[in-house]
Amino acid sequence: MRILVTGGAGFIGSHLVDRLMEEGHEVLCLDNFYTGTKANIQQWLGHPRFELIRHDITEPIRLEVDQIYHLACPASPVHYQYNPIKTTKVSFMGTLHMLGLAKRVKARFLLASTSEVYGDPLVHPQPEEYRGNVNCIGVRACYDEGKRIAETLTFDYHREHKLEVRIARIFNTYGPRMLENDGRVVSNFIVQALKGMPLTVYGDGSQTRSFCYVSDLVEGLIRLMNSDYTGPVNLGNPEEYTILQLAKTVQSLVNPEVQIVFKPLPEDDPKQRQPDITKAKTYLSWQPKVPLLEGLQKTIEDFRRRLSL
Ligand code: NAD
Ligand code: UDP
Repeated sequence: MRILVTGGAGFIGSHLVDRLMEEGHEVLCLDNFYTGTKANIQQWLGHPRFELIRHDITEPIRLEVDQIYHLACPASPVHYQYNPIKTTKVSFMGTLHMLGLAKRVKARFLLASTSEVYGDPLVHPQPEEYRGNVNCIGVRACYDEGKRIAETLTFDYHREHKLEVRIARIFNTYGPRMLENDGRVVSNFIVQALKGMPLTVYGDGSQTRSFCYVSDLVEGLIRLMNSDYTGPVNLGNPEEYTILQLAKTVQSLVNPEVQIVFKPLPEDDPKQRQPDITKAKTYLSWQPKVPLLEGLQKTIEDFRRRLSL
């Protein structure tokens, strides 16, 4: 198959590209390199089944493909809040352009949505039926509301144009190739510990997240795309940790000498998050396999190598 991966030079996108190339597909990787890097996909440059397209999805593009994995959008709060209007524009106009492309060539379309559509959730764990608690004028809204409108557009293309669509609601995912300056919690703690700097816990660290290793997530995306189930489907690891627990784990794995310091909690930071993955188990026969300790070890090794520490 000819498969387009938008955001294919990014963290999750590049791991997805690896899997699709290994399965023998023809892969078009589209990226504007805002947070993606050529290093993430350099292993495929020059391969006859691989094509790299530098393009910003807020502009339309004409391509011929069978499937579209639509991942292009900054995902770390630091990066999506740097230019929030652009983030909303990417989510709305970018998704509109990719849906238009899917409609023209009758390609199956998978949207990489997010647990952020649940905002600061009042239902725990979060099933797909939960409609969320998002502050639509807050600092996270450019991303949260952006993904909500992207889901709306995706479903309306499905209803109005009979487009085959899939929606994945991805929960916090980590692994090799996260940027050193990504700003998300796993990469921050690992980079800080490797450099012997204090680990920065925001708030008192009692807020929770559930961390999914990237290979598990990519398996879930591929299964969803090739299933008969439209979704939305939660994809994430249901093992829930407080941020302080995560800091202590990274500290013990990398350097027990480093300190933990407490910094102000960012605005609208969700207090708890854990996916209910009943649907993924039922419709995709999918559940995460990689335990946190194993995934953290692999991520630490990758950062150690890249930072030469
Ligand atoms: P990432 O920032 O590493 O990847 C995003 C990619 O999209 C980058 O390569 C970036 O350069 C590209 N991009 C951004 N704006 C673009 C534009 N206008 N045109 C073309 N390319 C553009 O982030 P990630 O963690 O790999 O996330 C990938 C997708 O998964 C995103 O849609 C994100 O919202 C979603 N997601 C990720 C997580 C997570 O924990 N990693 C959780 C929920 C949802
Ligand atoms: N966080 C933290 N220290 C950091 C970075 C993040 O304590 O250096 C916290 C952040 O406040 C949030 C959690 O870790 O409660 C997860 O943050 P991240 O940015 O990784 O993802 P998101 O908030 O989007 O789930």
